[in-house]
Amino acid sequence: MKVSTIMADLERKHPGESEYLQAVQEVLESIEEVYNLHPEFEKAKIVERMVEPDRIFTFRVTWVDDNGEIQTNLGYRIQFNSAIGPYKGGIRFHKAVNPSMLKFLGFEQTFKNALTTLPMGGAKGGSDFDPVGKSDAEIMRFCQAFMWELWNNIGPDTDVPAGDVGVGGREIGYMYGMYKKLARQYNTGVLTGKGMTWGGSLIRPEATGFGALYFVEHMLAKAGKSIKGAKVAISGFGNVAWGAATKATELGATVIAISGPDGVVYNPEGMNAEKLAYMLELRASNRNIVAPFAEKFPDATFIPGKKAWSIKCDIALPCAFQNELNGDDAAELLANGTWCAAEVSNMGCTPEAIATFQNAGILFAPGKAVNAGGVATSGLEMTQNAMHISWSAAEVDSKLHYIMESIHAACVKYGAQEDGYINYVKGANIAGFMKVAQAMLEQGIV
Ligand code: GLU
Repeated sequence: MKVSTIMADLERKHPGESEYLQAVQEVLESIEEVYNLHPEFEKAKIVERMVEPDRIFTFRVTWVDDNGEIQTNLGYRIQFNSAIGPYKGGIRFHKAVNPSMLKFLGFEQTFKNALTTLPMGGAKGGSDFDPVGKSDAEIMRFCQAFMWELWNNIGPDTDVPAGDVGVGGREIGYMYGMYKKLARQYNTGVLTGKGMTWGGSLIRPEATGFGALYFVEHMLAKAGKSIKGAKVAISGFGNVAWGAATKATELGATVIAISGPDGVVYNPEGMNAEKLAYMLELRASNRNIVAPFAEKFPDATFIPGKKAWSIKCDIALPCAFQNELNGDDAAELLANGTWCAAEVSNMGCTPEAIATFQNAGILFAPGKAVNAGGVATSGLEMTQNAMHISWSAAEVDSKLHYIMESIHAACVKYGAQEDGYINYVKGANIAGFMKVAQAMLEQGIV
């Protein structure tokens, strides 16, 4: 396999799909060496088959807004790879959603899910529907219209959607309500991230952020460092950022910055219970701005137009969107003494940022390892649904701990270099790839 040949072919077939091509390139570069040691992979054309989704559903979603106006959005579900289990992955509602974005996410999801130790294939879905400023009734009507099209292509043993950017517990509730009406199926395992009274798993809302911090703890321990007393900058104020801020605070770190599309909040005294609860209020307000945080808490200062990465910190945790931390941001962080960066968002750093961190020899880990606790706990939710039981928070949390420890160990196994540096990007990509490739090989040419 030659990465340049495969990439040239993909660029020709999918011109302009920049996020998708970026995600594929990163994985192929990581696995090239190992892949070429396995002629059986080459013979079965594993890479050529793995980089294309199994299938893509594209559909029109028409709904009526509060003014009685008819609105039309595009909806998608990308079933990427089912080698190790039913399709699994979130749904993203964001105005910039397009096939490239969802293909990158579905591709990443395939490897991430493989890392979780659980039997889940990779998928992603979403819509260019923009939830910002929408009323609750509009969100409900949109979710219902979206599910009207999607319901026939999903199921507890075929494809299990969940939340992502713009889709949380409320949206999952509205989608499930419509699903059961249309499908006449009452198995709640068809979606994860559900409410606690109807099949949701304890710890699922916290899982992405908590899992990320468990991973960071392992990464730091391996490097002989501790998070206690560290200053942590976090982008975003959604569910994932909230989970990360909560656990970082619990572990003795100071969350010195949170940010939104409008700017950054400098928060020198760190978080407390009231501030953490307010992060969720901000998210639920649907306004997508972080400035009100500094109005409510006078010890914090809002700096308009700036990113979280402009604040001096030890650990940087992008928790918002892909490519939110670029090469210049990475250079600024390094100049300010940052010694660890971990992507909690999917592909949160640009390739230039990753190269900057790795060349400087600081700790860096990619989203598909760091944020896998979210989908892993979705997997645990599916298990509980299938068994018709629910586990205690402590039970789910201990399983999440174990999974994040296993993911960290897999990254070290495949990413440790001779000079002692651990290339977590390479480690995560190879570990995920080997599992999916082996399964594809054993299942023949399909
Ligand atoms: N959207 C999350 C992710 O990127 C969670 C997916 C899920 O729980 O299925 O992994």
